[in-house]
Amino acid sequence: MGLVVQKFGGTSVADPDRMRRVARHVADTRAGGDGVVVVVSAMGKATDNLLGLARQVSANPSGRELDMLLTTGERISSALLCMALLDLGCDAVSFTGSQVGIITDTSHTKAKILEIKGDRVREAIAQGKVAVVAGFQGVSTAKEVTTLGRGGSDTTAVALAAALRADSCEIYTDVTGVFSADPRMVPRARKLPWLSFDEMLEMAGAGSKVLALRSVEFARNHGVPIHVRSSFTWEPGTWVSGDEGRRAMEEPIISGVVHDVGESKMTLLGVPDRPGVSALLFESLAHANVNVDMIVQNTSVDGTTDISFTLPAGDVAVAQPILERVGAEVGAKGVDTDAQIAKLSLVGAGMKTSPGVAARMFRVLADHGVNIEMISTSTIRISVVVERSMLDTAIVALHAAFGLDADSDYSAPLPERT
Ligand code: ASP
Ligand code: MG
Repeated sequence: MGLVVQKFGGTSVADPDRMRRVARHVADTRAGGDGVVVVVSAMGKATDNLLGLARQVSANPSGRELDMLLTTGERISSALLCMALLDLGCDAVSFTGSQVGIITDTSHTKAKILEIKGDRVREAIAQGKVAVVAGFQGVSTAKEVTTLGRGGSDTTAVALAAALRADSCEIYTDVTGVFSADPRMVPRARKLPWLSFDEMLEMAGAGSKVLALRSVEFARNHGVPIHVRSSFTWEPGTWVSGDEGRRAMEEPIISGVVHDVGESKMTLLGVPDRPGVSALLFESLAHANVNVDMIVQNTSVDGTTDISFTLPAGDVAVAQPILERVGAEVGAKGVDTDAQIAKLSLVGAGMKTSPGVAARMFRVLADHGVNIEMISTSTIRISVVVERSMLDTAIVALHAAFGLDADSDYSAPLPERT
């Protein structure tokens, strides 16, 4: 008997009708002979609504109480789905993250999974039951209820699949897979049949919302193949797995163009150019749990320099006083915050062996009048920060220029691998 973990996102279980459809699919999978563990998200916009309620009650809600509140969303879904499964004659039992033994650190609202005990899920499977686990949550080493950060049900699913040594983890959502760009912005975007863990990791890090970043890290570290697919059409979606033998001899150099409008840029202006300034700044930010992304330090003029970095827009309120304090301490000239930015990234494993991708990207942007504010790269990704108002132009132009448009027959052969 195989074992599959099936995760259903918020839109997949948004109302009673969707819930019953999902139950039917789960029951059919179980009837096919495989063991099934289900992970559910909160129904529809339930998490956003709970967050909204919290903000109406308190300007700065306590992390512990937020977690107590938000975990109810997934708990509701898990109980309702079990009811629907039982009605179909499919034996099922729901669990909270805590009951399953998903042990996390103590960082409320963005806890990390440290360990999964999973005894109760294993027992349920052994009894032939479908285990339905409330996603997005765990219990901390201090015995408090925690959540794993927005989109965290993906992480619950992949971590459970790893802990249970499942054959695969199916992530059901409202899109049919991972696309070469966001189809709402690039109508000619196409569905990618397969991506390597590394490519998906870069895409998630670059702002693709299809899978939570940490879930892909888990999948890669534990070798769990992920199948991203639709719970509306049930058609085959995008596989994300290790690249042993799967990569074709010919492949496009670029797999996708990813954008992110969830970041802001902050700059510490006129900082004295001496050892220890960056260390002090980024240590202070790290201490406050601020997730810094791209960093650029200008060359020094008259012994002073500007340090710019991007961070999630939601972290600006925390970072602002830190920059002001550090700025005063080191004698900086001021702090500047720019929320009107967008990050745009090209991702593709073929980049490793093809020179000139960055040059071509910058040329395309220049030809479309797009100014580049920051640049960062990895071996398989090139990211730039541009003005938010230029994003649409830039993404459509890059998608076409790198041969990703659906009607394009471009397919650059990879140079011989060494
Ligand atoms: N319900 C949570 C959220 O909206 C977790 C998830 O959907 O994965 O972020
Ligand atoms: Mg989600």
